[in-house]
Amino acid sequence: MNKSFDIGLERLAGGTGFPIGANNAGAEIEAAGLDLLQGPVRGTFFLETFGCQMNDHDSEKVAGVLLSRGYRQVESPESASLILYNTCSIREKAAQKVFSRLGEFGVKQNEGRIIGVLGCVAQQEGEDIFERAPWVSLVCGSASYRKLPELLAQIEAGKQRVTGLDNDTDETFETEMTRRDNPWRAYLTIIEGCDKACSYCVVPYTRGPERSRASDAILREARQLAELGYTEVQLLGQTVNSYKDPTARRMRFSELLLAVADEPGIRRVRFTTSHPSDFTRDIVDAIDAQTKLCNHVHLPVQSGSTRVLRAMQRTYSREEYLEKIAMIRGAKRPISITTDIIVGFPGETDEDLAETLSLLEAVQYDGMFSFKYSPRPHTPSLAMSDAISEEEKSRRLAMLQEKQREIQAKKHAALVGETFEILVSGKSRRENQWSGHTACHRVINFSSQERALLGKYVRVGVTGATPNCLVGEQT
Ligand code: SAM
Ligand code: SF4
Repeated sequence: MNKSFDIGLERLAGGTGFPIGANNAGAEIEAAGLDLLQGPVRGTFFLETFGCQMNDHDSEKVAGVLLSRGYRQVESPESASLILYNTCSIREKAAQKVFSRLGEFGVKQNEGRIIGVLGCVAQQEGEDIFERAPWVSLVCGSASYRKLPELLAQIEAGKQRVTGLDNDTDETFETEMTRRDNPWRAYLTIIEGCDKACSYCVVPYTRGPERSRASDAILREARQLAELGYTEVQLLGQTVNSYKDPTARRMRFSELLLAVADEPGIRRVRFTTSHPSDFTRDIVDAIDAQTKLCNHVHLPVQSGSTRVLRAMQRTYSREEYLEKIAMIRGAKRPISITTDIIVGFPGETDEDLAETLSLLEAVQYDGMFSFKYSPRPHTPSLAMSDAISEEEKSRRLAMLQEKQREIQAKKHAALVGETFEILVSGKSRRENQWSGHTACHRVINFSSQERALLGKYVRVGVTGATPNCLVGEQT
């Protein structure tokens, strides 16, 4: 049996009435954490997260584990007895950030605190971290978070250095509690790791092989989330649509989406990130059939050039990717499409870049995340010749972003006059100004005379647009 993702749920923080964001949630978390404690406070922890939504969700699980074991969360490293960095190593800059944070807490400032490195850098660098930053006592990858209390107990008992570095365990996410940062939208991991082998990517190394979670455990968690008042659920996975139900039910990914949407109380279901090769028609059909499934697909292409895609080992060509786009555009309701692109992959020529720019023109993406190629340890592309200079990568990135800006400016301008339902998730300091997301994942900043809108669904008419967001008024 796969027990990977059996997370018992308890809402340690949440409820309605405070704005989203770790900082704002902090005070509530402290209060909720203390309420929950039966015995004395065991210690205080500060947790900083780098990277993607999977890391954000991992940190929610780590906080849950610690709160349930008698730790209290605090807002600054200075006031913590335990300082944890949940790290990202997808690009070199992200990994460097962590070592610069660790530098701030060198031997002198350490003053008896326990300092720990969690997540992808922990998995990637392992015990070498102790050499680079000898004041670190704990190194723990994402598959070992359940072991945290045990590892901390070892340190408290006098052990200087402890590690949790398995990365393909069946118990990856069997934490007993998850402390959620957002009171309306909950993350729900359905698949961990990755079995693809993109030549630039460190994820298969840091997160291990693909493991799908049992469909009944996923649905149970979705039900519990709905009972706790969450209305939007975001299914997570590095390749979320590669999901393979390990139970006898053998639910397809599209069937799972529909089943989550059927849970009473759930109003929106999102999923990310989809891999183009595993993106099949039944997913589009499910979005067409069930309006609770958000009409947004994040479908990273990485490059518009088949030659570069081959070198990246992306398992599809430009033409095959465009066929998937045509399939999505053929849906009965409009589905917004966003993507990730890497520029400056080794050997990328001006012609390859021109093909990426022409792909942007052809697809007309609703949004894009773009990155300069960053060589990563343990990846095949590390050994490739024809590296592109940083300066040239920056030039290419600027061209790409300018192109996408033009596309978004046009697309957003065309939406003026339309009305969307949005989930209100932010309140501006300015009087009567709010913000939220549409189902198609656009941000709208809007005005309303109503009060206490956070967490509510309202209809907003679009009155203006910028390349990055829409502006409107509640109707
Ligand atoms: N699994 C997803 C997929 O297949 O598209 C992506 C996961 S990765 C965390 C998010 C994005 O980071 C990728 O889509 C890619 O654009 C970017 N990325 C990954 N490795 C990179 C590297 N070595 N340099 C630059 N960008 C990278
Ligand atoms: Fe990395 Fe490729 Fe797996 Fe995405 S599909 S996580 S880019 S190896």
